[in-house]
Amino acid sequence: MVDLEMLKELSELDGISGRESYVRKYVRKKFSELGIEDVTRDGLGSVVGRLVGDEKGPKIILSGHMDEIGLMVTKITDEGFLKFQPVGGWWSHVLLAQEFTVTTSEGKKYRAVTGAKAPHLLSPEEREKTVNVDDMFLDIGVESREEAEGLGIRIGDMAVPARTFATLANPKYLLGKAWDDRIGVAVFLEVMRRLKEDGHPNVIFGVGSVQEEVGLRGAKTSGQMVNPDIAFAIDVTAAKDTPKTDNSLKLGQGPAILVYDSSLIAHVALRERVLAIAKEEGIPVQLDFLKRGGTDAGAISLVHSGVPSLPICIPARYIHSHVSVIHQDDYENAVKLLVAVIKKLDRETVNAIIFD
Ligand code: ZN
Repeated sequence: MVDLEMLKELSELDGISGRESYVRKYVRKKFSELGIEDVTRDGLGSVVGRLVGDEKGPKIILSGHMDEIGLMVTKITDEGFLKFQPVGGWWSHVLLAQEFTVTTSEGKKYRAVTGAKAPHLLSPEEREKTVNVDDMFLDIGVESREEAEGLGIRIGDMAVPARTFATLANPKYLLGKAWDDRIGVAVFLEVMRRLKEDGHPNVIFGVGSVQEEVGLRGAKTSGQMVNPDIAFAIDVTAAKDTPKTDNSLKLGQGPAILVYDSSLIAHVALRERVLAIAKEEGIPVQLDFLKRGGTDAGAISLVHSGVPSLPICIPARYIHSHVSVIHQDDYENAVKLLVAVIKKLDRETVNAIIFD
């Protein structure tokens, strides 16, 4: 039932903020397979597929960001090591001694590791501290700067976590890099596939947005371009179900409706409508909030005269690392929820939400 192949492919594509071309190509390919021919893009590279159910109906954005967090090469040392700028929010603990893939401007790919001192070489004081990101480097296994440059490596190249998709002991637990936010991209593609078959009283814009991880930039430009009546951002949020958390947001218990994050206070009437539909349809959801971090919904909510917006998030463990874990049921329930909600968002309902 769940298209695991698509999830695997999306998670394994390389694309940091501003370098989303592999993902963009994939999304275009999927739109074309779905028979969605009206595909445009904004000036930053967000890709927008338009699916018409009723031309006179309200315009609804489903946004999933194509970029993932990663590194950008900023310097090649004489010895051939690559210094880097983190792109998106990294925690230094999860950066050391990890494998990365460096992609050159010509698309050549090289395996790299973030170098770390062996414990044998650390002083007692060094052992107590975390390593400053500025002191880290990528090692691609060359002798000199000349050798690195000869391979085509240049300042500005991207490095992303090297990690293949895997299912865990219980195969509904899915391990991968970049669930943030390729799972959101998968959700809107699957929602559009189902709604194309079933019909819907509105116009849907599936948006693969760019540069979310550096400040919701593609959502701002694509939101401005589409000028929607309603927007949903589909993203991940930090699960709180591991040791030393309060167990308030669990994998497998349904997608999270974010009532608050640092970019948005979710539109109350829209939120209530979605919760009511979830209840009617028997789809599990969890209410949650994020103290830090935002989603595309925050940026889209502020285009033109303002857009009722809501983030629907897949709970994920260990986000912003090489090894995030999500649950297949949360993906499927996010899809079901959005399909059910969008089927009910006709002009009259949307007016009732806007003018509550
Ligand atoms: Zn995200």
